[in-house]
Amino acid sequence: MPEAPAVVGEADLHAHSTVSDGTESPARLMRQAAAAGLWGVALTDHDATTGWAEAAAAVPETGVVLIPGMEFSTREGFTSVHMLAYLIDPLHEGLLAETARIRESRLTRAEEIVRRIGRDYDLSWDDVLAQTIEGATIGRPHIADALVARGHVATRSAAFDGILHPRTGYAQPHYAPDPLTAVRLIRAAGGVPVLAHPGTRGAHRVIPPERLARLVDAGLFGLEIDHPENRDDAKPQLRELARRFGLAVTGSSDYHGAGKPNRLGECRTARDVVERIIAEGSGSSPVTP
Ligand code: AMP
Ligand code: FE
Ligand code: FE
Ligand code: ZN
Repeated sequence: MPEAPAVVGEADLHAHSTVSDGTESPARLMRQAAAAGLWGVALTDHDATTGWAEAAAAVPETGVVLIPGMEFSTREGFTSVHMLAYLIDPLHEGLLAETARIRESRLTRAEEIVRRIGRDYDLSWDDVLAQTIEGATIGRPHIADALVARGHVATRSAAFDGILHPRTGYAQPHYAPDPLTAVRLIRAAGGVPVLAHPGTRGAHRVIPPERLARLVDAGLFGLEIDHPENRDDAKPQLRELARRFGLAVTGSSDYHGAGKPNRLGECRTARDVVERIIAEGSGSSPVTP
């Protein structure tokens, strides 16, 4: 009797490096993807593509296919919405202008958050810089790491549950375009847009169909349903929306290295879905061994 086929061809389509708020360099991420038995991995740092070159250089050594990507920060009212962008042209002018504006706002916002925290805790901007590589997209995780280093909290997660939680009043939002603008920009840059972790707020806060319809009309490709932080009660509704709007379903870990409990490869995307993304993306190419 033939052996059951090994699970081959699957990819983890959402992972972060030190270029944003992951704790592993792009090259180390590629090595970890190989160790996790992945066929492919997408590097999707927040609002930045500067890790692609280092990850690409590690492809021959690791044998893992790199799908270049980015996690685009957007905002719908007071709610932060993340849009995954695969195979974009990293030099597209409109996209570059928008991500530069987001990163600049992330920086001033982080400085302001640190100023506010500094009134009550021993914490300086240098503490945050010590947790960040040059040019990285700054986020609350870097402030969390500085709070850990100062001994104010034990872990990143504890910082998010406490000092960095919106209810404490230290944190504030940064500039981000609305999701529709992001979907249009991603398509204009030759990329393939997928709505990231759309179920983290539970069944009652899933995107309304009429709003999703507008994103689909603008070129939304899929929903990231298999994600460790999507709540189980939201998933049936999301699968129904994917079916109704003809959207692809992706799976990914949203790995942040040691910065989050998510394990690389714990959620994955089927090979045929990855192939469709590759077929639709024209702004850049996957890097194969
Ligand atoms: P920001 O980009 O500043 O809005 O911070 C949000 C980022 O922090 C997201 O990319 C999350 O992945 C990360 N994050 C949120 N909650 C946690 C947590 N409990 N532990 C570690 N990272 C988290
Ligand atoms: Fe993150
Ligand atoms: Fe996200
Ligand atoms: Zn992410």
